[in-house]
Amino acid sequence: MNVDYIVVGLGLAGLAFVEELRAANKTFLVYEDDSQTSSLVAGGVYNPVILKRFTPVWNAQEQLKVALPFYKKIEEELNITINEQFVIKKAFKSIEDQNTWFEACDKPKLIDYLDPTLDTKKYHGVIADFKFGNVHKTGRIDTKKLVEKYRQYLESSQLIRFENFEHQQVHLDDERIRYKEVNASRIVFCEGFGIKKNPYFKYLPLNEAKGELLTIHAPELKIDFLLKSTLFLLPLGANLYKVGATFNWTDKTSNPSKEGKEELVEKLKKVINVPYTIVDQTAGIRPTVAGRRPLVGVHPEHVQLVVLNGLGTRGVMIAPTVAKNLYNHLENGEALDKEIDIRRFSK
Ligand SMILES: Cc1cc2nc3c(=O)[nH]c(=O)nc-3n(C[C@H](O)[C@H](O)[C@H](O)COP(=O)(O)OP(=O)(O)OC[C@H]3O[C@@H](n4cnc5c(N)ncnc54)[C@H](O)[C@@H]3O)c2cc1C
Repeated sequence: MNVDYIVVGLGLAGLAFVEELRAANKTFLVYEDDSQTSSLVAGGVYNPVILKRFTPVWNAQEQLKVALPFYKKIEEELNITINEQFVIKKAFKSIEDQNTWFEACDKPKLIDYLDPTLDTKKYHGVIADFKFGNVHKTGRIDTKKLVEKYRQYLESSQLIRFENFEHQQVHLDDERIRYKEVNASRIVFCEGFGIKKNPYFKYLPLNEAKGELLTIHAPELKIDFLLKSTLFLLPLGANLYKVGATFNWTDKTSNPSKEGKEELVEKLKKVINVPYTIVDQTAGIRPTVAGRRPLVGVHPEHVQLVVLNGLGTRGVMIAPTVAKNLYNHLENGEALDKEIDIRRFSK
């Protein structure tokens, strides 16, 4: 079998790259072994503002310009709804917090998003002593639905194999690659935390930040916005809310843990004061990089081997832009954004 590309991993990174291949009528085959869950469990929120410091997310405006039409196109193609737009309400912790907000509202990169008029309303069940700030033009991509539907679509066209990609079976010829009975020009590795098992790219400094989320049923809570307080609370409909997320830098498994649950329950006491029941708990490893820039580019010795990883905590916004840049770099000679290029790290 001959293809232009092999793509390893079908999370947000692999999906965004496959979309580029499809748009250009390239042939490809995807391998996916269900070893990682990050894209399946993600909150899926896109928000151009870092709400801890009220600073802009790197290139957020540019990324959203690419990302929103990207997800809309997939909605149309697969006949699904995955993008839900909403307001984020940031619950302030202090008067200083409010003042920092007012300063941030004047920053050119934030002016479109931060509302200088504070929300003074009380919301039943929500603990907030210092009012709320509204962030506009934000929302959420249902990444689980997106990835699952996309995998089904690929499966129906026999473009994905649900099996482990075995790196030791890669044979590099002068210009091409042989992997079992498949011949390809390039392999693009989109493995998330799975990169740690990749002999070609494991030298890259990817850090693993495990995140856990709860889904709770809270019938007395009636909010239709994303609440950002000590935790985030994301309404899913039918009185269900996603609550998250933890950051754990030592546990490398994707298993929901007792500690994760306890941490979330403890923090939730500071956020809501109405009864709830926990109906689900999920976990995944965020592929993060110190400096918060993705890991993208061509292997320093083997031009057939390519990586697209390090999407960190904001894969929804970043993936479409970096996948496009990578594709145009490989096929059309476009320069790769220096900030994301893996050549910034030596092997
Ligand atoms: C709790 C939590 C909350 C989050 N919330 C948000 C949010 O609100 N907004 C946001 O933008 N981002 C969020 N993120 C981050 C987001 O999930 C990541 O940025 C993104 O999912 C990373 O996508 P990826 O495709 O690089 O990696 P992954 O999703 O990990 O995908 C890699 C894929 O490769 C497969 N794979 C790996 N090795 C192999 C192999 N050898 N053979 C075959 N297949 C292989 C894996 O099974 C996996 O499916 C969150 C993450 C977590 C964990």
